[in-house]
Amino acid sequence: MSRPVDVALSRSAALLTIEWDDGIVSRLPIDYLRGWCPCAGCQGHGPVVEFHESPPGQGIELMAEAGSYALHLRFSDGHDTGIYTWTWLRQIAPESPPLGEKRGRFAGGEFRPKTGQDRTT
Ligand SMILES: [Zn+2]
Repeated sequence: MSRPVDVALSRSAALLTIEWDDGIVSRLPIDYLRGWCPCAGCQGHGPVVEFHESPPGQGIELMAEAGSYALHLRFSDGHDTGIYTWTWLRQIAPESPPLGEKRGRFAGGEFRPKTGQDRTT
């Protein structure tokens, strides 16, 4: 499992940059992070984690480490129940396969791009 060696938040660029111990540098836009909030309020309690488009222009009001395993983020819309584990941040990072920003869902740790056909609601 990759661990972060440096975490930097740029409020002006609305970007969270994480440098990992294997040399990979991940750049995560705040809107993108908000869309991947893993909390139960956003995702329910099932095994599937899905990307939710958020109103653009999100910022981060507060960032704190939760133990040694996660980041706790409070977004400018007041949402603050998301605990982003390092594993999760690395999984959604554009630098992790499949490369690029992922908008779709993770089921059992496997990414499925969003298609028009598999809407369940
Ligand atoms: Zn949430």
